[in-house]
Amino acid sequence: MSSTAVHTDTHCPYCALQCAMTLNPAPHDATGGRRPLLTVSGRDFPTNRGGLCKKGWTAAELLDSPERLTAPLVRTADGGFREAAWEMVLDRIAESLTAIRVESGTDAVGVFGGGGLTNEKAYALGKFARTALGTSRIDYNGRFCMSSAAAAGNRAFGVDRGLPFPVEDLDGAAMILLLGTNVAETMPPFLGHLAGAQAAGGLIVVDPRRSATVRLTEEGRGMHLQAAPGTDLILLLGLTHIVLAEKLYDAAFVATRTNGFAAVRRSVSTWYPERVAASTGVPAAQLREVARRLASGAGTYILTGRGVEQHVDGTDTATAAINLALLLGLPGRPGSGYGTLTGQGNGQGGREHGQKSDQLPGYRRITDPAARRHVAAVWGVDESSIPGPGIPAVQLLEQLGVPGGIRALLVHGSNVVVSAPNAGPVRERLASLDLLVVSDIFFSETAALADVVLPVTQWAEEEGTMTSLEGRVIRRRQATQPPGGVRSELWILSELARRLGSPARFDSDASAVFDELCRASAGGIADYSGLSYELLDSGAPAFWPYPPGSTGTPRLFADRFFTLDGRAVLVPVTPRPKAEELHRDGALTLITGRLLEQYQSGTQTRRVAELNDAQPEAFAQLHPATAARIGVADGQPVELRNDRGVMVLPARVSADIRLDTVFLPFHYPGDASANLLTQDATDPISGMPDFKTAAVHVRAARVE
Ligand code: SF4
Repeated sequence: MSSTAVHTDTHCPYCALQCAMTLNPAPHDATGGRRPLLTVSGRDFPTNRGGLCKKGWTAAELLDSPERLTAPLVRTADGGFREAAWEMVLDRIAESLTAIRVESGTDAVGVFGGGGLTNEKAYALGKFARTALGTSRIDYNGRFCMSSAAAAGNRAFGVDRGLPFPVEDLDGAAMILLLGTNVAETMPPFLGHLAGAQAAGGLIVVDPRRSATVRLTEEGRGMHLQAAPGTDLILLLGLTHIVLAEKLYDAAFVATRTNGFAAVRRSVSTWYPERVAASTGVPAAQLREVARRLASGAGTYILTGRGVEQHVDGTDTATAAINLALLLGLPGRPGSGYGTLTGQGNGQGGREHGQKSDQLPGYRRITDPAARRHVAAVWGVDESSIPGPGIPAVQLLEQLGVPGGIRALLVHGSNVVVSAPNAGPVRERLASLDLLVVSDIFFSETAALADVVLPVTQWAEEEGTMTSLEGRVIRRRQATQPPGGVRSELWILSELARRLGSPARFDSDASAVFDELCRASAGGIADYSGLSYELLDSGAPAFWPYPPGSTGTPRLFADRFFTLDGRAVLVPVTPRPKAEELHRDGALTLITGRLLEQYQSGTQTRRVAELNDAQPEAFAQLHPATAARIGVADGQPVELRNDRGVMVLPARVSADIRLDTVFLPFHYPGDASANLLTQDATDPISGMPDFKTAAVHVRAARVE
């Protein structure tokens, strides 16, 4: 399919809500004949009901961007780039990879994927790493997003599906507790699903800032808990303490559907409301009211986001939220539940098909002998040839260019120079590699460091599937032809695999790759084996697990959890010391987050004029008292400094933020990159970096 003379139903290229849209031929060729321009219209679909946010409405601009990469680029001796032919470039990459593997072993080559890749690309990338390259060194940027919640979900429920229920179920909620998520900016059409709880006065938001989402709580009986950054685990322990102390928990549910009650009760016994209030800054009376309201009746949901998950204790924090939900008897009960709001476009599917360091397709452990046997048979390789578990993203990036580490890296769908924590050393390590190959649609900040840049197809130029935050598999459809010099990543991987003498065969047709993915996932947790493009194109809802003969699984946990005995596991958790002291010598706590008009590292949205004009630069949000103390006014330059970096940004002075906190959006590159200041300490369970707490010293910038 390639014609632009038809209307094409597809989905937004950005976030995990995967809003449905139709791409239409423009009434006239506004590009002066350069390329056909498409327009976007919203399409009725359960996640967005025809609504789109600014990013969705302007998404077609990505297709006609004059900044689009249109030919392979290779670095020249003088440090620049020149265009080159595909055959020559692929030959050179394969030769270099082969030489490095022979000299230094297969693990000297690494692969870094992305949570925005289609299911087919994520699957092909994992297979390519394990078969064509034979390396265990593969991970992806979803490690920075969903890994804590995923680990917590697997530990408690035996499965990780962001929302274990369709998003429409939230419409009937009377009470929704949102922890660390600002959906009013990150996915505005989602607000339609909160409207019922908001109208009922049941919207409760935990956030160090009075965010756009918090403002929704200010009419009626909604609540804002403005907890200090990094104290979410303590807050949840306090709420759990109250639920148990006041016997607000669902004893029958706990007795019949969970294990571990006694240990969790012991673990929260000393987290009295007053003690929790002292740590979090949330008054004890407010904590008691929230606990009582959460337990007050049916229709209660608890939803977490990156704000509480991106910590060195992120898995335990998500676990504490799950414990609370289980004690209240929410998961699996109609009209209530627990979930985590996935961020990246394919944040859910991207973690199911094998680009995680420890997983094989079907969301199965790479150490599981049965999973290895099954997947090896689908791939047509010897089971023993599949490497064991690799290392998570931050550790993988630490291995770049070090003796005995990774000498060559292939990057797909990720701009790690902007998105990785403590980004300064990451940049240096990438630049030190013997071979860095970056596949992208634009010349990203990571591409600028590459030896070879490969231009690839984007959303409306390709067929594929994505999986929404609710585990709903959906079709991405081609609406237009890519520029002539651009290739799909599936084609690139198949061509490289052939040149590398891969024992596994690679297909470049998305439908064929999806069929293989479905076979590889059969019997796994994320089982797609009953799905096909034909079924998805029929419009039938497709929630995994979807084995053959089923109609999918929109709601999980009605009868049992995915554990051996079918019961959920209550896991006692306790706060650990932070990786760095936050308040020493007058430091503020740096938190990072997102803006409505930008997406992730900004590679796409910074190139859409309407979006970038609205939010063209990074800034530091400060409380007025902080601004007064350091002597800066709104808009004046402020210096932020810690052991990892220093930057100067314009101040945005606002009473919407805590006195002890400074907020930076993380979408911006170069000297304004928030991740120059963030910590690369990681959660020992999930490998999640701590993006949400870092000590930073703030002062008025000296004007030379
Ligand atoms: Fe796209 Fe997300 Fe906006 Fe929907 S909410 S239009 S999926 S960016």
